Amino acid sequence: MRIDLHTHSSASDGTDTPGDLVREAAAAGLDVVALTDHDAMSGWDEAQQAADEAGITLVPGLEISTRFHHRGVHLLGYLPDPTHPPLVRELDRILEGRTARTPAIVAALRGHGIDISEDDVRRESGGSVAAGRPHVADALVRRGVVADRTEAFATLLSPGQPGYVNRYASALEEMIPLVAAAGGVTVLAHPWGRGSRSVLDAGALAALKDLGLAGIEVDHQDHSPVDRAELRALARDLDLVVTGSSDHHGLGKVDHDLGVNTTDPEQYERLLSLVRP
Ligand code: AMP
Ligand code: ZN
Ligand code: FE
Ligand code: FE
Repeated sequence: MRIDLHTHSSASDGTDTPGDLVREAAAAGLDVVALTDHDAMSGWDEAQQAADEAGITLVPGLEISTRFHHRGVHLLGYLPDPTHPPLVRELDRILEGRTARTPAIVAALRGHGIDISEDDVRRESGGSVAAGRPHVADALVRRGVVADRTEAFATLLSPGQPGYVNRYASALEEMIPLVAAAGGVTVLAHPWGRGSRSVLDAGALAALKDLGLAGIEVDHQDHSPVDRAELRALARDLDLVVTGSSDHHGLGKVDHDLGVNTTDPEQYERLLSLVRP
């Protein structure tokens, strides 16, 4: 059984449609794939249809933008009721923050002398409800300002750079119980990626587990072999589920091919056992 529990489609900032993503997962030899678009569940139906046709299992999920001790933390939610009103309301608030940020980023870049418009970005974000910096990056690539998304994030779109604008994110301590109230389970995405190790230490992980956190993503491309070993030991001490995944974004992120990291079947079963029917 090959299981990949974190991928993105064009419902957020991946470059494959949800259907294509699932077909690629099947072609890559995966038996189980989770679709976890940023703050959005709009790709689920198309992905489910493709999974039924391809004969693989889809785990409907999402990757939620949260805040913890002033840092952005990504929370994976699996199998929540997509109609649970309090969850829908909170996700709408995040999505509104994304929508409002785009013109602010465009204005900031224009102020920096870069010729880019909101229409340019809309063309890239297309059918996505979750407009993001990767779409701005794609617009900058098309304008010839940068070579690829990596250069856009390295030079213009990260904190402290000319095109960076903050946006709303939910409190992590509130989102974990909210996903649980919607019948789902939560896993911290790449907890020690991009400098979050300082806030997500053993004490914090124990407190988050008490709030209902089910697991942590250990095998992720943002984690070094040493990080992975330490996180695995922490998960064992705290009795947290351990997952592994690609965080695939289609052509949008290099070195994140489907199945590059996978989740142990026993850990997957444990995670599913925590989902409320
Ligand atoms: P946003 O959610 O709009 O704030 O943008 C953050 C997203 O951009 C992350 O979730 C990643 O998917 C993506 N991202 C961050 N850094 C990079 C990078 N260096 N190259 C490509 N994509 C990135
Ligand atoms: Zn992304
Ligand atoms: Fe993430
Ligand atoms: Fe992700």
